[in-house]
Amino acid sequence: MTKTAAELQSELDRLDAEIRITREQEVGGPLDQITELMAQWSISLDQVARHFRHRFGMEASDTSLRRTDDPELTAFLTRAIRQILSDDPAPPSCPRCSSDNTWLVYRSSSSYPIPTFCCDACNRTFTRLHGTSIQNLKNKEKLFEFLPYLAHQHPLDSIAAEMHVTRATVLSWLRRLRALLWALDPSGHYVARVRLGQKPAPRER
Ligand SMILES: [Zn+2]
Repeated sequence: MTKTAAELQSELDRLDAEIRITREQEVGGPLDQITELMAQWSISLDQVARHFRHRFGMEASDTSLRRTDDPELTAFLTRAIRQILSDDPAPPSCPRCSSDNTWLVYRSSSSYPIPTFCCDACNRTFTRLHGTSIQNLKNKEKLFEFLPYLAHQHPLDSIAAEMHVTRATVLSWLRRLRALLWALDPSGHYVARVRLGQKPAPRER
């Protein structure tokens, strides 16, 4: 199950290509994420190994599971959500028709927390939230507090209690963030790192 350096490299190349495509579609992550991602992979090969050990059910014990944390996953989502909610007035390409003939209609203000743009090709307005899984979510800032829990296999009820929200809210956040991860990274590499909501494997006796 050990990955060779060549396999790892080709996997990184594939991720690189996918993140580029994603960026062109203005769904998410800026190009410098690639550089960062590659740097992280090359300096933390043990994390990659741990990831695959988990995938193949070779984790040592429950104790190590509970302590597992995933700052890369948290950072990846934080950057993506910050970008979606950004007040950057530079018009992105149209989320409906991909046209670059777009312009700023409203800068962010008290009435428009994020900028609104218009597309000349399809003659419709949009924001960076358009078409994302967090588009109609209230209180989006609370998501940032929730992100670090994604890498843990805790029951949803305990997260709900800890964050003083309902279980349904936690489930809704989990589903939206999983959808966002698929949109940002169609390879499924990041979504595979989400452990929240998984049931622990039955223990051998
Ligand atoms: Zn358009």
